[in-house]
Amino acid sequence: MGVLAQQVVAAIQSVVGDTKAGLHEPKFTSSEYRLVQNCLDSTMVSSVGEYVERFEENLAEYTGSPYVVAMSSGTAALHIALLVAGVGPDDEVLVPALSFVATANAVVYCGAIPHFIDSDTTTLGMDPGRLRDYLVETTETQKGRCVNRVTGRTVRALVPMHTYGHPLLIDEILEIGKEFNLTIIEDAAEALGSTASGKHMGTFGDAGILSFNGNKIITTGGGGALLTGDRKLASRARHLSTTAKIPHKWKYIHDEVGFNYRMPNLNAAIGCAQLTKLSVFVERKRELYLEYKSAFSTVSGVRIFEEPEGCRSNYWLQTLILDESFEDEIDEILEETNRCGYMTRPAWTPLHKLKPYETCPKMRLEVSESLARRIINLPSSPGLMRQ
Ligand SMILES: *Cc1c(COP(=O)(O)O)cnc(C)c1O
Repeated sequence: MGVLAQQVVAAIQSVVGDTKAGLHEPKFTSSEYRLVQNCLDSTMVSSVGEYVERFEENLAEYTGSPYVVAMSSGTAALHIALLVAGVGPDDEVLVPALSFVATANAVVYCGAIPHFIDSDTTTLGMDPGRLRDYLVETTETQKGRCVNRVTGRTVRALVPMHTYGHPLLIDEILEIGKEFNLTIIEDAAEALGSTASGKHMGTFGDAGILSFNGNKIITTGGGGALLTGDRKLASRARHLSTTAKIPHKWKYIHDEVGFNYRMPNLNAAIGCAQLTKLSVFVERKRELYLEYKSAFSTVSGVRIFEEPEGCRSNYWLQTLILDESFEDEIDEILEETNRCGYMTRPAWTPLHKLKPYETCPKMRLEVSESLARRIINLPSSPGLMRQ
């Protein structure tokens, strides 16, 4: 075994102890059991019920988002957010190359084409400086629309994603949105609990989305939410995600092709209990970051990723970044840490390297590609304690 892999195992061990550690395990207490039992007792387990409303209200309060629509997944929320933002067939949508596949999939569900943007090493999100230069070079404004000069297609929207919970340079991204007439839909799936200048991520753009999948900072089993400050957009999102059914005592009238994307009450019950613990989870993760930072401070060739300046990150997944000269050792480090019972994972395969996205338009993506060769996510569960 190489020296670096050995040092990484020892550093993780000094933080999490000798027991096995998953990448991100949810933590439940009696409050989840109690609310789930109440929900079952009420028989209102599906999308009509008090917990969905309560979860939406509590999320609105926590995030400061005027409107919240709970959905069956983060991907569903992103699909609906793009649709209500007017993304349609043959539009292009700018998305980060370094993201979970759902970011691009939701664009394709709308009949649109993902267009991949490179990352910034200080935030792990889109690089606004290079994005702007790229748009100046490759697009032109026609009748208030941003048009890709190469493909002739309308570039409709921009989907910034806050990687592992770390806020990207949102002010600069919003400026670009204004300058190039692009709707901004924030993929804040990983960023519940993260803020920039005191404002919650997902509330800066025209809309934002959150995910409550099993591995996210809080979970509803599966679930997501759309955040927006726009009342009309919110009510259209609610309508579309409720099979476009016109409310009526008994008649089934649907005024367009909608989706069955609303969050079931049973999941929302778990969410209500989880949300009361979010602040504690964020605190714990911020402490865990300090513990990893200290443990890795004596290991050369790697660093623990730190929240960008001016932001408060939820540190959803702790992130180790290898120096370029050590990138050849990533497989050995992953192999060895997992063999020792510490679940570590590399970054996603950059989306433009995946079969369905190989031929999509893209800018030069050398930073995303380099980061993907050097990122290792470490055990990050809120329940992790020093042994
Ligand atoms: C988790 C995640 C999603 C999708 O959320 P689901 O609830 O799993 O559908 C979207 N984007 C990013 C960046 C994510 O991490």
